[in-house]
Amino acid sequence: MLGVIAEDLVGKSPRQCFEQHSNLVNLFSRSGDQTLDVRLPRRRLAVGVATTLDTGERVVVLQDVTERRELDKRRESLVRAISHDLRNPISAISGFADLIGKFGDLNDQQQKFLTRIRQTGNKLYEVTGPMVDLAWIEAGMPLSHLPIRLSDTINLVVKELSPLAMFQQVRIAVSLQNPTPVVMGDPERLKMVIYHLLHNAIIYSLPEQTIAIHAWGDQNEVYCSVADRGIGIADDELELIFDRMYRSRDERVRDLPGGGLGLTIAKTIVNRHGGDIWATSNLGEGSTFTFVLPTVEL
Ligand code: ADP
Repeated sequence: MLGVIAEDLVGKSPRQCFEQHSNLVNLFSRSGDQTLDVRLPRRRLAVGVATTLDTGERVVVLQDVTERRELDKRRESLVRAISHDLRNPISAISGFADLIGKFGDLNDQQQKFLTRIRQTGNKLYEVTGPMVDLAWIEAGMPLSHLPIRLSDTINLVVKELSPLAMFQQVRIAVSLQNPTPVVMGDPERLKMVIYHLLHNAIIYSLPEQTIAIHAWGDQNEVYCSVADRGIGIADDELELIFDRMYRSRDERVRDLPGGGLGLTIAKTIVNRHGGDIWATSNLGEGSTFTFVLPTVEL
């Protein structure tokens, strides 16, 4: 891997042996457990892991990760490409469709076609959003690791979705332990989890119904539940709803737009934070979605 002959190294110090590989020398000279990238000949890359044995000897293990890093880079650029190369043109289509009418009178037929273009554009945009989110998370993109109080995230999402709730004539009742324990994680992604659960609760509720969102926990775990009294989910579908693109066969669901990705995204994010998510439901009576995350003490 290093392009050296073992016999030539015997009796020499790490600095004499590996003068071209400064990080490798660092791994030998530092104490405790260490991990560093080590550049190899022929533009290859290794991860070096070092530890000190009970006997006082220092051991360094190198693992060639050139291909893996290359793959990560390619995945990342693919996901970037989807988000930019797909979403931007869709926005452009809708934008130009909006402009056409402003530059001259259109006949009824043209107006009708224009409305269709605009509607299709909006629908495409809505569907690609969750697809990009899911591709991003599934590509193993790094999550940020910040202290978060779920109560703050919940309040943000409730505010964001209250126009939709108003439109659907449903009420959102929030009850949060004060303070909710802190979790370490990615604020944007955890917001997505709550967003999808609450969004579903709203669209699958009936007018005049109330949705209850709770958060509570202790020094080990924090729970968040979103309960509605809406259309509910049949027993045999309950285990399928977290699957990619699964949508209930219920006509009331089929009539609503949606790509069946929200819960898959929510589950992937929660699992990547070391947590779990599940649903309980009775058809025609409502559903409760709950997720749990490990907490940290600040
Ligand atoms: P989408 O809502 O876009 O269809 P989701 O992945 O968020 O996709 O949900 C998958 C399916 O689970 C929905 O199509 C619906 O059948 C069911 N579902 C999710 N949340 C609820 C809810 N609160 N009440 C009833 N059904 C639900």
